[in-house]
Amino acid sequence: MEALERPLGLASKEGFRHLGKVRGLERLVNELIGQARSLLKDHDFVPLLEELRSTFEGYEEKGGEERKRSVQRALNLIDEIRLRFQRRLSPEEVLKVLHTPIRFVKGVGPRLQRAFEKKGILTVEDALYNLPLRYEDRKSFKRISEMHPGEWATGFARVIASEEVIYPRSGRRVFEVILTDGTGLLVAKWFQGIRYVKGRVKKGQKVVFSGEIKGFREQKEVHHPDMEVVEEELESIHFGRIVPIYSLTEGLQQKRVRTIMYNLLQEYLPRLRSFLPREVERRCGLVPFPEALREVHFPSDSRMIGELNQKVSPFHRRLAFEELFFLELGLVLRKEGISREEGISFRVEGVPVLEEFLSHLPFSLTGAQRRVLEEIKADMARPHPMNRLLQGDVGSGKTVVAFIAALLAIANGYQAALMVPTEILADQHFRRAMEFLGGIGVKVDLLTSKVKGKEREEVYRRIEGGEAELVIGTHALIQEPLTFRRLGLAIVDEQHRFGVIQRAKLKRKGRSPDLLVMTATPIPRTLAMTLYGDMEVSVLDEMPPGRQPVSTRLFREGEREEAYRVLAEEVGKGHQAYVVYPLVEESEQLDLADATEGARSLQELFPHWSLGLLHGRMRGEEKEEVMRAFGEGRIQILVATTVIEVGVDVPNATVMLIEHAERFGLSQLHQMRGRIGRGPHPSYCLLLAYGPLSEEAWRRLRVMEETSDGFRIAEEDLALRGPGDILGVRQWGLPDFRVANLARDADLLLQARREALRLIQEDPHLERHPGLKEVLVERWQKRLELAEVG
Ligand code: ADP
Ligand code: MG
Repeated sequence: MEALERPLGLASKEGFRHLGKVRGLERLVNELIGQARSLLKDHDFVPLLEELRSTFEGYEEKGGEERKRSVQRALNLIDEIRLRFQRRLSPEEVLKVLHTPIRFVKGVGPRLQRAFEKKGILTVEDALYNLPLRYEDRKSFKRISEMHPGEWATGFARVIASEEVIYPRSGRRVFEVILTDGTGLLVAKWFQGIRYVKGRVKKGQKVVFSGEIKGFREQKEVHHPDMEVVEEELESIHFGRIVPIYSLTEGLQQKRVRTIMYNLLQEYLPRLRSFLPREVERRCGLVPFPEALREVHFPSDSRMIGELNQKVSPFHRRLAFEELFFLELGLVLRKEGISREEGISFRVEGVPVLEEFLSHLPFSLTGAQRRVLEEIKADMARPHPMNRLLQGDVGSGKTVVAFIAALLAIANGYQAALMVPTEILADQHFRRAMEFLGGIGVKVDLLTSKVKGKEREEVYRRIEGGEAELVIGTHALIQEPLTFRRLGLAIVDEQHRFGVIQRAKLKRKGRSPDLLVMTATPIPRTLAMTLYGDMEVSVLDEMPPGRQPVSTRLFREGEREEAYRVLAEEVGKGHQAYVVYPLVEESEQLDLADATEGARSLQELFPHWSLGLLHGRMRGEEKEEVMRAFGEGRIQILVATTVIEVGVDVPNATVMLIEHAERFGLSQLHQMRGRIGRGPHPSYCLLLAYGPLSEEAWRRLRVMEETSDGFRIAEEDLALRGPGDILGVRQWGLPDFRVANLARDADLLLQARREALRLIQEDPHLERHPGLKEVLVERWQKRLELAEVG
């Protein structure tokens, strides 16, 4: 088909301008179809091949218009044959082609192989999805007479002379080539690599060149241009079109990579297909897969340059959609899988110890807390594992909800585990649990890295023996070869600090336990769907009563005194304050110095108040001691690096002064601000910013002043920085996309999700979509722990 397509393509190019030049088509067609029939024995292809043959019957006698129609018809038939052929490729065949090592690709020798591998390109698939960084329009040729010094130009010209000259004064060798296009002269010069160019340039050749035009007196010059000899028929891949620009590393040359990519597409694309269902493609108006890949690398329509460069061309969108679709399909399937798995059916009504707990609680639950609890109870009662996300802004009271769920599991004779990201938080939860649950006879244990030796063995023994009823801990819970005797409920707090894998690991500590994950980071909907697309979601959208809003104000360098005055006033009323310094990983020393110095000067300023210092390099016990002292009010002002960011709860703290607020991300600022405004008193967040602020920093700080709505802040953050940069996104376990970008392609994600849901509804076991499951598992198994997608 390719052998036939080439002359036909040429004949049809540029409005059939070359139709007359292509001769002997009838004979060629007959010959090739004879060959094709012996290769494609399948009955499906016979009528198509026959039609193709008959299209050219008596071709030589036909008039121009009729010939055009024949050529066009033939091209369409070839497309159809190819499409049918591709549709028959099995997933195994396609995956085999995709996994072809890069060294098998034409033009890739051992040296290039190494260079590609350094870029993480090991296979044909990696290369195909290594999309161009950007595109350059080299289609519009300029006439030499219109080229002006200082501008970049691409032109088409003839070599009229070439010569190596030696400049008499400097003794420098230069190779000069004189070019003309009939409108003027241009001198191309090489100062290096002369031997190479000299061997290639000949008088009379036609070349395409591009480079920066320089003026030398009356003469126009171009130094070391990109230059390529062209034969008229041959379409260049480097000039006269939109040209892809790839990201390079050492050892990779742009032109080389481009040539390899071109050949790779020629060779492998016909043997690839997509397993995205046809009906989905049609409903979403997606361009066909081969076209998308071809065009995304070698665009044929130069009008699209803008869209291409923004990566929103129909070709980019098709590939992004496919990626998102498979992700969502995986998540939806996993959700279905979990909901069918066998799990524990807890008794949740008429549990006396729950009544007891509630009657001891110093407050009554908010409406939102009660509603969420009902949702959790319903899940726990079902004989399948719960898989629920509890979202609630900082301070909305998630901990109590978690304790109640744990209590229910315990009352049913099971163990519960609560995993948190930091030791401070583990410690705080532990103390709170002892206070609330210990009082009614629940046995609570703490497991962090600082529980050592004998004590640790003892905790292990209690967990494995089933004596420990509620276990609160950090990563230590999942790092060890520790098993619970009867884990019935796994809770993960501040989920955004953990990934999918950790979540799954904790779950595996028991036999299909219920899972509740809690997060305070309000996540934009698109991100939530990606990260938690397999979970049911509950939202705590109501704050406990009596909370005072936090007023936030930005102070510039010269206004520091004023900020201190607010702080002093609050502490003077018997409240407490946080003073936060940024922590930048690369210069821990420096930041520590900042915080230490800050603490010293504050102490000088407020000699009669007790100050504490908290930073990441302190040992676990030291940190806890400081936190405990602050919690008990023995420290009035806590100077800290960002270790206090998550979960810490000291209601008497009413001021937070954030140094170098311009260095923090929005979500992080919001998280930190959540440490105050937790009690009945009005609270103040003082943002101190230094130096000239970037526009983005300004906007961030303004948003902080304007709103305390976590969801709005999350959306702003996503818009400002894109999902890849949002604080801790790596820890969120966000999958690496090859094409898609959640900020840019949010609409595609929604669409992909809808289509995935619809597909599963219509074909729950993917029986009517052969190949889909294989490809899905291949793509996402590792990344999503798709074990349940049986
Ligand atoms: P977060 O959702 O950020 O984890 P916490 O669970 O730490 O919030 O709760 C914040 C504070 O609110 C705690 O001091 C907690 O005791 C208190 N709290 C929780 N629920 C209520 C309620 N219904 N009424 C009053 N205070 C509550
Ligand atoms: Mg919390």
